[in-house]
Amino acid sequence: MTFAVPCLRSRRDTYLTLAMQRISTDPAQANPDRLAYFILKSVNEALREFDMLREGDRVAVAVSGGKDSLALWHLTNKLGYPADGIHVHLGIGPYSDVSFEKTKAMADRLNRRLYYFSLPEAFRIGIKDLSRTVKRPPCSLCGMIKRYVMNRACTEHGYSVLATGHNLDDEASALLGNLLHWKEEYLWKKGVALEAEGSHLAKKVKPFFLCSEKEAAAYALMSDIDYVYDECPYSIGAKTLMYKGLLNRVEDESPATKIAFVKGYLKRAEKERLSRADDETEEKTLCTTCGYPSYTRQCNFCLLAARFGGGGPVGFHVYDPTSLQDGIVKS
Ligand code: SF4
Ligand SMILES: [Zn+2]
Repeated sequence: MTFAVPCLRSRRDTYLTLAMQRISTDPAQANPDRLAYFILKSVNEALREFDMLREGDRVAVAVSGGKDSLALWHLTNKLGYPADGIHVHLGIGPYSDVSFEKTKAMADRLNRRLYYFSLPEAFRIGIKDLSRTVKRPPCSLCGMIKRYVMNRACTEHGYSVLATGHNLDDEASALLGNLLHWKEEYLWKKGVALEAEGSHLAKKVKPFFLCSEKEAAAYALMSDIDYVYDECPYSIGAKTLMYKGLLNRVEDESPATKIAFVKGYLKRAEKERLSRADDETEEKTLCTTCGYPSYTRQCNFCLLAARFGGGGPVGFHVYDPTSLQDGIVKS
């Protein structure tokens, strides 16, 4: 795989210009200070209106090494919520190695702990070969593994909230995809603040959901955050990219459509979730191996662990810049 060398100057100008268009089309009004203020305002609004973080919460941020998650980790700490990071190394050659290095560099900069799980180390196989062997698309496997690992790292290491870097474009494009294909099983389950369930499911929040992708990128550039520029190779050709392009065209013609789309959905989703809760037929049980919620006797992660990981305990590395320790803790 080749890595493009981006021109930081032009990326900075492009992202800042595009991000500032939302604040003002008048160049005299658009400046980086106003942009920073606008982004902080959007994040504060999300935190407050959706009661995302409460006093006493211990926060962990899901960090991929991309602009959104690194910006969120940086901003969460800047806003006064001391947050640690959790990263999953997928074993996608240099892409994963670079992503991990950028994540670790942010842990050093923030002086915060980083928990990470390495797929090639735990299962002796990267996501590509795993996908071929179990005949399941890489993105579907990746999603399942990340959800499991992130949640488990939170609950076993005392974090009450997991924050993810999903931005407005992510939320709007996922919603459009679910609507276009009438994926009813997912449609009403999405949210930007999902409460914890028992002791096994941490609360999940998306503080960036009112910020566009360009605003998140602008924040990363303004804060001198070094992120992985390349997209994951499995995202190439993904439908979500097409949906993002379509929504951007609509937004150009009719500004603020994306926010109205997502906010309108969230209002309806809450009501739908409540009215559908009684009709839920799928029963969750607890995995007989790990004890985490599952729809089957043994959860999908444990099935993989039994086949590829020798069935042993899940091992998280803990990188702690304060003590320069890099150790492994078994859960
Ligand atoms: S594009 Fe890459 S990071 Fe995203 S879900 Fe697919 S495999 Fe995972
Ligand atoms: Zn399990």
